[in-house]
Amino acid sequence: MKIKLAQTRKQKPDFNNLGFGKYFTDHMLVMYYSNGKWGEPEIVPYEELKLDPCTNILHYGQGIFEGVKAYKNDEGKINTFRLNDNLDRMNRSAARLCMPQFDTKVVFDAICELVKIEEDWIPTAKGTSLYIRPTMIANDKALGVHAAKNYIFFVILSPVGNYYAHGLTPTKIMIEEKYARSCIGGTGECKCMGNYAASILAGEIANQKGYDQVLWLDGNYMKYVEEVGSMNIFFVLNGVVVTPMLDGNILDGITRRSTIAVLKDAGYKVEERHIEIKELVDAYNNGTFDECFGTGTAAVISPVGVLHYNGVDMVINDNKMGKIAEYAYNTITGIQTGKIEDKFGWVIKIK
Ligand SMILES: *Cc1c(COP(=O)(O)O)cnc(C)c1O
Repeated sequence: MKIKLAQTRKQKPDFNNLGFGKYFTDHMLVMYYSNGKWGEPEIVPYEELKLDPCTNILHYGQGIFEGVKAYKNDEGKINTFRLNDNLDRMNRSAARLCMPQFDTKVVFDAICELVKIEEDWIPTAKGTSLYIRPTMIANDKALGVHAAKNYIFFVILSPVGNYYAHGLTPTKIMIEEKYARSCIGGTGECKCMGNYAASILAGEIANQKGYDQVLWLDGNYMKYVEEVGSMNIFFVLNGVVVTPMLDGNILDGITRRSTIAVLKDAGYKVEERHIEIKELVDAYNNGTFDECFGTGTAAVISPVGVLHYNGVDMVINDNKMGKIAEYAYNTITGIQTGKIEDKFGWVIKIK
C-alpha cells in the first residue's frame, strides 16, 4: 500500500466540543476502479476530489457509504467495532447499486493503517470517538443512466462527540404520515445516497415543528413502523423488546444486531417482526408502552421520549431513558471501549 504523508498538519479542534462530522483528519484513503478492477488503496493527504461536472455521481447518485467508529482508551489502545460487518454490508449495497465488489480484507487492513496514522485524532473522553466514513462513488464522465465503469472508493475520518447535541436526553420523534423513505423492491436496505436525499424534506418539516427526526412507516401501506433513517428503532411493550424485522425496507444495522444480541444474552425477550403503528398507539393507551430507543453507530443508543402520531404526543417513560435502553447503551459502549469483556468477538484491536 502506498502512503504519502501530509507536509503540514492541521490544528486539532477542541476535543471537548466536537459535535458530529465537522472536523476531518490529515489523511484519507483512496482507491480507484477502472478497466474492470480495483487499484491499490493509497493513503494520501486529505484533499478535495476533482470531479468533472458531467461525472455521473453528481447527476444520478450512484453512491454508497458506511459509518464505523474507532475508540482509544486511557492506555492508548485503539479498537474498532465490527468493521468487517460494515464492509460486508457495503458490498451488499454495492451489488444493489450495480457497483463493483471490493476485497474486504484489503480495505479492512488499509482502514486500520489509516486509523493508526491518525491516532492523535482519536478523542478519549466518554461519548467521543473517531468516526470512519468509507464511501464509493461512480466516476464516469458521461450523462447516460447506466452502471458506471469507473469508481472512486475513499475513506475519511472525523473525531466526533455525541450525534445529538443533547446527548443522552431523550429525543422527540415525529411519525411521518405523508412521505415515505422506502418501499418493497426499493433500496431501503442499502446505505445508498439517494435514500438520504429523499428523506430530507420530512426531516426539515419535523424540525420546524420541534421534533428531532422522523420515524418512517412503510411506503406501501403507511401502516408498519420501519426505522428512523439514521437509526433502527426498538420498543419495549409490556416488558417485551420488539423491533421491526429485516424485510428489505430497513437497514440491517450493526448496532441493531448488537443490541438484539446483548439483550437476548441478558435474558430479555426480543422479537423481530412487523409492528403496526396501531399496536404502538394501543400500547400507549393501555399503559404498556414501556420504552422506545433508536440504535445506530453515530448515536449508539438514543432514548426516545416523545413519539408524535396523528396529532398526539405520546410521552414515553416520563420522557426519561428507560432501564433496557440504558442497559444496552452501557453494555455496547462498554464493549466498544474495552471496559466490558467482549464475549461476542466484535472488538477489533487496531493498536
Ligand atoms: C446507518 C444506518 C442505520 C444504523 O446502522 P448501524 O450499522 O447501526 O450504524 C440505520 N438506518 C439507516 C437508514 C442507516 O443509514
